[in-house]
Amino acid sequence: ASKEADLKIVLLGESAVGKSSLVTRFASNAFDADKESTIGAAFIVKKYYVTDPETNEVKLINFQIWDTAGQERYQSLAPMYYRNASVAIIVFDLTDISSLTKAEFWIAELEAYNREEHKIQILLVGNKSDLSKNENDNQISETVERLKVPYFKTSAKEGTGVDELFKYIVDSIDDG
Ligand code: GDP
Ligand code: MG
Repeated sequence: ASKEADLKIVLLGESAVGKSSLVTRFASNAFDADKESTIGAAFIVKKYYVTDPETNEVKLINFQIWDTAGQERYQSLAPMYYRNASVAIIVFDLTDISSLTKAEFWIAELEAYNREEHKIQILLVGNKSDLSKNENDNQISETVERLKVPYFKTSAKEGTGVDELFKYIVDSIDDG
């Protein structure tokens, strides 16, 4: 590739919403239903090639992904992981409305950080769409409208929406 860029991403959200599964789906196009939960945080690197549709030039994007653990006891460590990130993916479980409350907590923390330091692009992801019967849709759309953050629905299990999420991220980074 003639062009290359590093892209630092952090995933935050309650435990068991599917953060690690989303990263595995993106990085390896796989899903492991028996994977152990993350301790502390995991770091994943993924090379991703995109072709500029106008010039046909290939660009290499080095994704550097911090997949954090959602447990309360690691919460105070989160700034170590999001401090240098360009993009934060805040994940909740579409079938567990309490995880949306947790997502709101993270968005508020990042917005407070953005006011003082640099800008992290914040994205909200509702995962486990394969299990969802749209039972929480009203509350979710009310929250999304109020928070004014880009919102995606995914299933790490089936792969639905995952490409769209990462394509959005790639498209939104600066060319240069
Ligand atoms: P994390 O704690 O946020 O990293 O969540 P994990 O990725 O470890 O997933 C927690 C549990 O939810 C595991 O049992 C996964 O197999 C399951 N899971 C994750 N994503 C999905 C999904 O999209 N659909 C379904 N049905 N299960 C999922
Ligand atoms: Mg995890």
